[in-house]
Amino acid sequence: MTALEWHTYEVGHCLHPEGSVRKGGAWRPVRFPALAFLIRHPERGAVLFDTGYGKHFFAATQRMPERLYRLATPPRLQDDESLVSQLERDGIGSDEIGTVVLSHLHGDHVGGLRDFASSTIFCAREAWHNLARRGRLSATRKGLLHDLLPENFLQRVRWIENAPPAGLPECFREFSPGRDLFGDGSLIALHLPGHAAGHYGLFFRGRDGEPILLIADAVWSSRALRDGVPPPAMTTSWLGNTLAYRSTFERLVRLHRAWPWLRMVPSHCLEHRP
Ligand SMILES: [Zn+2]
Repeated sequence: MTALEWHTYEVGHCLHPEGSVRKGGAWRPVRFPALAFLIRHPERGAVLFDTGYGKHFFAATQRMPERLYRLATPPRLQDDESLVSQLERDGIGSDEIGTVVLSHLHGDHVGGLRDFASSTIFCAREAWHNLARRGRLSATRKGLLHDLLPENFLQRVRWIENAPPAGLPECFREFSPGRDLFGDGSLIALHLPGHAAGHYGLFFRGRDGEPILLIADAVWSSRALRDGVPPPAMTTSWLGNTLAYRSTFERLVRLHRAWPWLRMVPSHCLEHRP
């Protein structure tokens, strides 16, 4: 498996009562960073895993009912903090991003998608279908915003479900087979159901062959993974399916205990920043 350079970007944050993301947590608001990841592939160039917030998020939540999203989890993003601005400062133009892989379609993961107008998009068909069938209010209640997808989304998307099945190390036996996005075994999408429709993580080898699993929102913090404490059912039922979420969560906790050298990186926790 190819060893890939990767970087983490914090692209804005929102405020959440701690108790809504951690069972038994306090009700004071805590900072909830929105992370995006850049992975450098030797042939495919720069690949993003999610995009964090972006100016489009604020435009899309200007009016009701979408504004409810912004009121429920107040986001913060400085002008120069969008992913496209941060990449530019690192010498990477938006047109150099060949591929954007979407873990799922929540607004804090796809808020910057429109800034990458020439990228191929990998997304679960299940995720798109779940958004496409909803009206504005129903979508907003699930953390989804129609306006964040570019108009030409369907011309640019490649469905994750259509990628060939991939072999994963034996310790992944409790999960369904991965999906080999580029057909070369370098980036493998892993279905992590429960948090939202069509929710995927991404497995690859980082520097020195270190195994990395970006777990998106299947677990919200490294601490939760260590302690085995899931978020309250109220939150997971509101966003997705608690039964499926808990099953994924427990499998990830077991995987973490069985294979501690696998670096699992949640999308809203800075503990594992490389
Ligand atoms: Zn989410």
